[in-house]
Formats: sequence, structure tokens, C-alpha cells
Amino acid sequence: MAWICTYNPEHIFNTLPENGDINCPECGLKGILVASDTLDTDYENELGLCVLLMDASWSMTQNNIPPSKKNRLELIAETAANGIFDLQGITKAKETYICVMGFSSEVRTLLFDSVHNIFERYQGNVDKFASFFKEELSRMRGDTNINDALNAAHVLVEKFLNKELSTLEDYEVLYHALWTHDKEDIDVPNVRVLLYTDGQHNVPNATDPIINPFSKMKPDILMGVFVGSEQHEGCDKLKAVLSNCPEHSHPQFFLLDRFEKLTTLRKLFHMASGTSGFCVKCQKQ
Ligand SMILES: [Zn+2]
Ligand SMILES: [Zn+2]
Repeated sequence: MAWICTYNPEHIFNTLPENGDINCPECGLKGILVASDTLDTDYENELGLCVLLMDASWSMTQNNIPPSKKNRLELIAETAANGIFDLQGITKAKETYICVMGFSSEVRTLLFDSVHNIFERYQGNVDKFASFFKEELSRMRGDTNINDALNAAHVLVEKFLNKELSTLEDYEVLYHALWTHDKEDIDVPNVRVLLYTDGQHNVPNATDPIINPFSKMKPDILMGVFVGSEQHEGCDKLKAVLSNCPEHSHPQFFLLDRFEKLTTLRKLFHMASGTSGFCVKCQKQ
């Protein structure tokens, strides 16, 4: 079996790097190594992509979401695993791609595959899938590098939209027509980036602003979740760079401040990858 780089398909490796990282040793974060034998190239439909940016910083392991005694990292890993497995029932499981990147001081790609392949690989065992996230994320503890995570996601999304992810071979991107709040007719790719954090960007400095590389896209496909109190400084900083939903003109922002809201988060993982939506109002439709 060979591993092929999504950024430069001439980068082919027989094995993955020893540390389990699936980023290309030559391209770094720009390239993700995809197993050649898992690629199903006879797509019947256009493809969608969801990039999940998961906070693996130290604080995620130090705090819980009462009344649960589990730490935030564990709880969200379980929620994400469930949210992704909820998608197995959808008709486009083979055409829905998920990329998961963990970020702390550094950024690492943990997964890039279709919902169908992920489900097959874990034989539908959601606990095993959640354990994978927990193990990988808890190895990364450190600071919170939101900008590097956003940039890595942006490179992948651009490649995907330009149909340049050559490891996937001839594919088309799924688009939906949308009538916007400003009464404009736009085409929206079935591509979303979902970032959650419980802190604030602090690499190299805590005073550095978050730069949203998706803000120039029309529409901006970035959605953000803050884990913790709305009064936290990091919450304001995240909100400030997020756009409003093109349909409802409501912030593409979600707050996870109470245990009950894990259900919302599970639906959000589902929405970001399966259907199309941007805000809480989209979620209620
Ligand atoms: Zn490469
Ligand atoms: Zn909306």
C-alpha cells in the first residue's frame, strides 16, 4: 500500500512517518498522506468536505463540563465521533470527506477520509473511533495555535475547490444554490470548516489577533465554537473574526457553556459535514 500526498501527488511513500503523523514529510501541513487503496474513485456524485479543527491544548484536559467528570477533550472527542458516525446513514457517505486536524502549539492532521471508509475501518464501533481522537489529541498538549490551524485548513480547502486534490482523481465539488439575506443568488460549496477552542490564540504571542483566511470567500465557510464561558476573552476574540450566515445574517458561532449543549455540538458536527448550514438558525430548520 502506498501513501500519496494531497498537495503534490509525486510524493509517494511506502509507510507513514514513525510518529503517526499523516502530513507529508516534504510539504508539512500543506500535504496530507492518503492511503491509495482506500480511494474510491468511481464517485457517483459530487464531493463535499468538512474540516474539523480540534483544540488539543492543555486547558482542554484540565477542565470538565459539569456535571460530567470527564474532561473537555474526552467529552468532545466522543461527541465528534458520534456526530461523524451519525452521518453513515446519509446517502452520500462515500462522497462526504472529513479531514480532522488537532491543534495546540502545533497542528497535526489526524484523519482524512470519506465517512464511508471511516465507518468501515472502525466497523461501526464509535467507542473505538472516539478513543482514536482522545489518544491523538491528548498527546499534543500545549498552547493554542488557532492561526496555523486555520491556514492549514485553508490550503486544503483551496486545493479541494480547485479540484486539485489529485489523490482523489476526477471529482466534482457539490454546490447548492442559496438565496441570501441580501437577496442575492449565490452558489455555496458543500465545504465547511468547523473550529472549536476553549482558549485564545497565543502562538507566538497572546496579543496576536486571529486572522480568518476564509473571510474573503463568498460565503465564508468557517464556523466557530467556544467551549466555556461567554465572558472568556477568547470567546470575544473568536466571535470577532467569524462571519454571519449568508441566509440568516446570524453569527456563525456556537457557545458550548453547558453540558446539555453537547447535543447541539453533535448536531453541529453532523451539519458541518452532512447537510449544509452555517448558524443556529440553519440548525433549527
Ligand atoms: Zn507532499
Ligand atoms: Zn443560518
